[in-house]
Amino acid sequence: MKKIKVNTDGCIGCGMCYNSDPVHFGPNEEGYSTVISEENIDVELVQNLVASCPVGVISLVDEDEKECTCEHCHCHDDEAA
Ligand code: SF4
Repeated sequence: MKKIKVNTDGCIGCGMCYNSDPVHFGPNEEGYSTVISEENIDVELVQNLVASCPVGVISLVDEDEKECTCEHCHCHDDEAA
């Protein structure tokens, strides 16, 4: 299953994603995009949004994909136990 991620800190609030897909994206109080639903994602639509976001802060990842692949951090140590 795919999962949508938005780096709200990098969003410029252009509104393109949440106007195009208001089911899955919505503005926070400051107008920056957040993910509001992960249900029934239209992968093709979200892939278009990933490609169209002017600052490239939307991504579509496999749900079980680890966010960090860094070998030097310890953010996944608890998962290995
Ligand atoms: S398209 Fe990108 S910059 Fe525009 S609101 Fe969505 S996440 Fe923010």
